[in-house]
Amino acid sequence: MQKLELLYEGKAKKVYATDDPALVIVDYKDDATAFNGAKKGTIAGKGVINNQMTNRFMAKLETAGVPTHFVRELSERETVVKKVSIVPLEVIIRNISAGSFAKRYGVEEGIVFDEPTIEFSYKCDALDDPLLNTSHALALKLATPEEIAVIEKYAFAVNDFLKSFWSSCGVTLVDFKLEFGRLADGRLVLADEISPDTCRLWDSKTHEKLDKDRFRRDLGGVEGAYAEVMRRMMEAL
Ligand code: ADP
Ligand code: UDP
Repeated sequence: MQKLELLYEGKAKKVYATDDPALVIVDYKDDATAFNGAKKGTIAGKGVINNQMTNRFMAKLETAGVPTHFVRELSERETVVKKVSIVPLEVIIRNISAGSFAKRYGVEEGIVFDEPTIEFSYKCDALDDPLLNTSHALALKLATPEEIAVIEKYAFAVNDFLKSFWSSCGVTLVDFKLEFGRLADGRLVLADEISPDTCRLWDSKTHEKLDKDRFRRDLGGVEGAYAEVMRRMMEAL
């Protein structure tokens, strides 16, 4: 399958049309951004890791009952996926306080929650992805009540799977962001990516950060951290 016209170039991936209108090819870049594009850089080898990690998780999630956009890996950086219309919600699940949660509520990072939390942001770079609640999402007609219920069910199922998988690798899943899309027939599937760009991953013993926070916070060792979580994933598969 061949890449045809470039449909969209985002901060981390390019999306290309194919000769099948139901399929697109995503091409993962090494470009890294943070703070809604204010900080820019490159993480060598990130595109390969994020592509391969996402695809392995999506394949596993399908068998765990979460439908996804994944079709097949084309190359180290390229994957054929079902074309969807993205629901403009960033769905964030948290198991442990960190990042914007810790900042917003004035608490330290590392508080382990009794139950995972879920929150939505309006996926809109121009507005800086503002936090919104379900009634706001419904008022803005970003999704239907039925879709929100399905998204919540899938998001918690993804958390159950990822938390236990990462735990078997000696990695603690702190939080992550998901995106969902609608197929032509309206069915919802998990889309976009699951990678150290979109998940906070801490070494279970040392609590060392093994994700994009190393880039956001200039902690160094960014490439090594991405390679380390990929290595642990491959060992556990
Ligand atoms: P951003 O748009 O935030 O800069 P990326 O660089 O990751 O993000 O760009 C990839 C874009 O492709 C995102 O906007 C994402 O919502 C979208 N996308 C992900 N999966 C699919 C899919 N299956 N079909 C269509 N678009 C998708
Ligand atoms: N996240 C993401 N894309 C975004 C915002 C957040 O992938 O545009 C991920 C982020 O990597 C983290 C989780 O979602 O794993 C929660 O992020 P948070 O709200 O704490 O925001 P941040 O601290 O990244 O600004």
